[in-house]
Amino acid sequence: MSNLMSNYSPLEVTFVKGEGCWLTDSEGDEYLDALSGIGVVNLGHCHPTVTKKLVDQSQKLLHTSNVYRIDNQEKLAKELCGLANMDKVFFANSGAEANEAAIKIARLYARSKDIDNPIILTASQSFHGRTMATLSATGQSKVQAGFSPLMSEFIHINYDDVDEISKLSSNKDIVAVMVEPIQGEAGVIIPKDDYLNKVQGICKKNGWLLILDGVQSCMGRTGKLFAHEHNEITPDILCLAKGLGNGVPIGACLAKGVASKMLTPGTHGSTFGGNPLVTAAALGVLDVFQNTKVLDNVNEMSDYFKSEFDKKFSNNKLIKELRIKGLMIGIGLDSDKIDCTKLVKRALKDKLLINVTGSSIRMLPPLIITKQEIDTLVSKLFTLIGN
Ligand SMILES: *Cc1c(COP(=O)(O)O)cnc(C)c1O
Repeated sequence: MSNLMSNYSPLEVTFVKGEGCWLTDSEGDEYLDALSGIGVVNLGHCHPTVTKKLVDQSQKLLHTSNVYRIDNQEKLAKELCGLANMDKVFFANSGAEANEAAIKIARLYARSKDIDNPIILTASQSFHGRTMATLSATGQSKVQAGFSPLMSEFIHINYDDVDEISKLSSNKDIVAVMVEPIQGEAGVIIPKDDYLNKVQGICKKNGWLLILDGVQSCMGRTGKLFAHEHNEITPDILCLAKGLGNGVPIGACLAKGVASKMLTPGTHGSTFGGNPLVTAAALGVLDVFQNTKVLDNVNEMSDYFKSEFDKKFSNNKLIKELRIKGLMIGIGLDSDKIDCTKLVKRALKDKLLINVTGSSIRMLPPLIITKQEIDTLVSKLFTLIGN
C-alpha cells in the first residue's frame, strides 16, 4: 500500500486546504478542526500574518546554519525572553528536542554540583516526547514499550501530588523536577491552582531546577501566553514548541539564571534550529499575540463553551466531567456506557476533528474560534455523545 513506515495509522482523509478553524478535504468537504493539528495551529490555519512572514522570508533567505548570526533568531529570542521573563533561548525543531535540551542542561547542572548520577523527577501520565531521553522521561508505559533500556535518571511521581515530591527532598542526586503545567496527552489533566507554586517552592529549597514542559499548554492555549502565568511564577527552564510556529517546526528551550549559563560553545546544537524561515513564522505568531485580542477571545470562548456545554449536557449520563482551562478541553466519559475507541471516526463522519485518549475526548480548537463556531462544535458534540 503505502511506502510509509507503520508507526502511524492515519484516518482515511486528506486535507488540501485550511483557513481559520476549517479544513477542506480532497473531495471538497469542510471539517471543523477542534484539534488544531494537535495544538499547533493555535492561531488558525494559514493565519495571514504568519503566512506573510513566511512568504516574505522565503523570497529572501531560508537557511544559513548556526555557523553565522541569524537576525530573526536573535529578534525572536529577545522577544520571547522579554515576554517569558527568561534570560536565554536555545532553538530546536520540535517539542522533544526542546525537552532534550532541558535534560542536557540538567545534566550539566548536575556536573556543576559534582553529582555523577543525577535524577530528574517527572510525573506519571506525563508526555515529553519520543526521543530516547524524552520517552524515558514520559510517564506512560505505552510510549516506552519495546524501547528498553530506558534512561535511568527519571523517577516518576504522581502528578498533582506535592507531598510525594517533598518526601524525596533528602535525595541528594535529584537535580530537577520536570512537569507539564497541564497534562495534555494524558487527556487534559488540570492540577490544583497552586500546584506549580508549591513544586517551585520545593525546588528552590532544595536547589533543584524547575523545568516546565509548556509544549502543549503554552502559546495562548490556556488564556495566557504561557500556562504558568496563571501561577505568577518563573521556572528555571521553559520548553515550547507546537503553537510557537503555528505550523512550521520550531521548538525552544528557554532558561533563566544558572540554568541559562550551562550550554557553552560545542555542548549542543541543531543544524536547522532557529533558521531564518521558522523564526520568521514565530515572530509572526508573537506579533499576533501582542497586537490582537486573541487571548481575550480564548477566555471569552472558554466561558462560552462551558455555559453552552452545561446547557446541553447537564443531564448526560455518558459524561463524567468537563476539564477546561482556556481552550484546552478534556471531556471525561464513562467508558462502561460508551465505546470511546469509535468516537474519532464517528466525529470525522460528521466533519468534526477531535482526539480521544483513553476515556477522554481532547479538544484544542484554534484560539480564534468564534461563538458561531463554538455553537457548531457543541452541536456536533451533541450528535456524537448527546442523548
Ligand atoms: C507534543 C508534546 C511533546 C513532543 O513534541 P514533538 O514536537 O512531537 O516532539 C512534548 N511535550 C508535550 C507536553 C507535548 O504535548
